Amino acid sequence: MLEKKHKGRHLKEWYAKNRRELPWRGSKDPYRVWLSEVILQQTRIDQGLDYYHSFIREFPDVEKLAQASEQKVLKLWEGLGYYSRARNLHKASKVVLEQYNAVFPTSSEELSKLPGIGPYTAAAIASICFDEKVLAVDGNIIRVVSRLFGIWGQRGQRSFTDKIESEALNLYFDPPGDLNQALMDFGSMVCTPKNPDCPRCPFREDCYSLEHNLIDQLPEKREKKASRKRYLYYLVRETEDVFTIQQRGDGDIWAKLFEFPHVERDEPKSTREVLEEIGFQGEEMLEETGFIKHTLSHQEIFANFVILKPSSFHFDKIGFSETRGDYSRKDMIDLPFPRLITNFLEERYSLYGRSK
Ligand code: SF4
Repeated sequence: MLEKKHKGRHLKEWYAKNRRELPWRGSKDPYRVWLSEVILQQTRIDQGLDYYHSFIREFPDVEKLAQASEQKVLKLWEGLGYYSRARNLHKASKVVLEQYNAVFPTSSEELSKLPGIGPYTAAAIASICFDEKVLAVDGNIIRVVSRLFGIWGQRGQRSFTDKIESEALNLYFDPPGDLNQALMDFGSMVCTPKNPDCPRCPFREDCYSLEHNLIDQLPEKREKKASRKRYLYYLVRETEDVFTIQQRGDGDIWAKLFEFPHVERDEPKSTREVLEEIGFQGEEMLEETGFIKHTLSHQEIFANFVILKPSSFHFDKIGFSETRGDYSRKDMIDLPFPRLITNFLEERYSLYGRSK
C-alpha cells in the first residue's frame, strides 16, 4: 500500500512524464493563463486551442482586449457558447486596464473580484502565475480526489468542498501551479469521467473507489435540472443580397448576438398556424427547415427557419425592435451569431465559411 504522503510524489512523477504541452504552459503571463482557463471551461482542448490562438492573434495583451468592441469579442467567441463568459472576459479586461493599469492583481482574493472570475479561475491564475498555495477546484479535481479517497457528497456543498480540499493536501507538491495543472491533466487523461485508465494509473494499488468497485458512483452525480423547451420560428426574408436581422437584448440566452426576427412558443404548433397568428398568410411561406434541435445547458431550443416571400414582409405582430435592419451578405460576415444561425447560414447560403 502506498502511504498517503507518497501520493504527491506519484502525481508529480506522472506529470513530469505525461503533461500536455499547451501554448500557455510554462508561461506565467496571467493574461494568457486567464484566457485559456475561460476558453477551456466546458470546451474540448482541440477546439479551445483554435479560439485561444485567434484571441492571442487579435488581442495579444489585456490592453488590446479592453480596447476592442464587444461585438468584435463576441464575433471571435462565436460558436463556443456560454456567451456571458466572453462578455465578462471583455468587462474584466477593462477593469484590469482602468483600475489596475493593465497589471493583473496577484492574489486569488483580488482576482476573484474581477467580472466572471470565480474561485476556480482565480486560484488557477494565482497558483500558476504567482505561486499562491491555493487549490483550483474544478470537476477534474473533484473526480480524482473523491474517487481516490472515497469522498461522498454533492458538488456545491461547502462541507464537501472542504473535504476535497483537505484530502487533496495528500497529493501536494510544489510549485502549487504545477499541482493544479497536474490534477487537471490527470483528471482529463487518466481518471476520466467514463472508462478511467485504472490499469495504468499510478494510484491503482491505493484507490478507494477501485478497491470498492465504486468508480461509477464517485463523484456523486448532481441531479439534473429539467430542461426548458423553447420553440422558435425564425422568419427569413430571402432576397438576392439582403437579410433582415436584429440583435438580441440582455437577460436571456445569446444576449447581444444577432438573429432573424422570430416568434417563440412554449409548445410546437404548425407553422401555418403560427404565421397566421402573426398576420401572415400560409401561402407567403416559400419553405421551412422544420425543427432543428439545439441543446444548451438548461434549455432545448427547437428552431424552425421559415423562408418567406420578400414582398410579404411585415412585422407588425411580432413587435418592434430598434436593432432590426437590412444587412447585406458582406456586412453580416462581421456580426456575431449563435451557432444555430451560422449553421443555417452556412448550409443554405454558404455564407459563413467557418463551420465549427
Ligand atoms: S485507479 Fe482509476 S479511479 Fe482510481 S484514481 Fe486511478 S484512474 Fe482514478
